[in-house]
Amino acid sequence: MNDSRSDFGEQFNSLSPGVFRASTVVFDSLDDFVNRKQRQPDGYSYGITGTPTARRLERAIANLEGGKHCIVTPSGQSALCTAVMGFVRGGDHLLVSAASYGALQTFAQQWLREFGVEVELYAPDAGKDIARLFRPNTRMICLEAPGTVTMEMPDIRAIVALARKQSIMTMVDNTWASPLAFKPLEAGADLCVEAATKFFGGHSDVLLGAISMNDNGYYETLRQTQSILGQQASPEDCFLVLRGLETLPVRYDTQSRHALEIAQWLAGQPSVQRVLFPALPDDAGHAIWKRDYKPGGCLFSLILQPAPDRAYAAFFDSLRHFAIGASWGGVHSLAAFYPATLQKNRPFPLTDQPIIRLSIGLEPTGPLIDDLSNALAQYERHARP
Ligand SMILES: *Cc1c(COP(=O)(O)O)cnc(C)c1O
Repeated sequence: MNDSRSDFGEQFNSLSPGVFRASTVVFDSLDDFVNRKQRQPDGYSYGITGTPTARRLERAIANLEGGKHCIVTPSGQSALCTAVMGFVRGGDHLLVSAASYGALQTFAQQWLREFGVEVELYAPDAGKDIARLFRPNTRMICLEAPGTVTMEMPDIRAIVALARKQSIMTMVDNTWASPLAFKPLEAGADLCVEAATKFFGGHSDVLLGAISMNDNGYYETLRQTQSILGQQASPEDCFLVLRGLETLPVRYDTQSRHALEIAQWLAGQPSVQRVLFPALPDDAGHAIWKRDYKPGGCLFSLILQPAPDRAYAAFFDSLRHFAIGASWGGVHSLAAFYPATLQKNRPFPLTDQPIIRLSIGLEPTGPLIDDLSNALAQYERHARP
């Protein structure tokens, strides 16, 4: 017996969003079936482009960003690639920050270049000077603030304003700030990407990405791109991020306060050469950050006084509260290591030293500072010949 229609229409009210799973969406008539694509970009025609669970999350994120539309994708990286693939073609010129998320740079340099896109990396602290790089075929600028790992602050407002005048699209990876601190769409950017994996999910247990926008045409194009590239976001993962969003403001607030306290403490330690964190007054990007961003941020980086590799091993291997791991934005504090070679291979390098990146979670700061204090003592001991 085909009871596919009989289960629908039951009412169940809960504070928690329903998890709707589907590959197949069923239709009431042949006419509905034949015309199913006309339901895009908002409606439901096949599981790839989302179920009510995904739509609910998309509405929530669009609201947070101050935008009209949103598309969720399986990861932050898939959101970045989908946003670029939706609009950039062979023969176009694409500007990518030299400090943008590593996998986006690799995608641009190793894939898009092969497809005939003129990929150009620009200085991560660019401002008005970026206009020198514009060409008649410049299609899009990929921005990220602050830069991944190295934390340079570009002047997003200035760059977006110049790009608009030339009809160049702008895509901002806003994951570090989250819309609680900065809203790229309100600053005039065309597309705002978030790795919902980070602050939105908040518990290091889900991968998801989001692209938000105001323009209806972009929305239609991206929904179609999602379908063609097969970028479905799992309804369970959408549920987890919806749940994460409920506590985002309190997590953001506490993690940011703790991060600032720890960053200030680190800045006073003799073995710390530099703390890279735009929230600190003597950071190179502080003025722009202060002008455009609300306080916050749980992620910052460190450059230590030069020492041999064994000193970094001693630092990391002595950590007890910080887990060693990439990703960030969750309730547990993390430490990650970026060797000097990464910088040496990059245009516009920030340093010739390795970089340590810390993500501050929800733990009390006392034990975290003790942990870092001990790790720095180990570092100093192994720095000596
Ligand atoms: C983590 C991250 C991404 C990628 O997100 P995933 O969900 O891990 O693919 C993109 N941009 C920034 C700034 C990130 O930190």
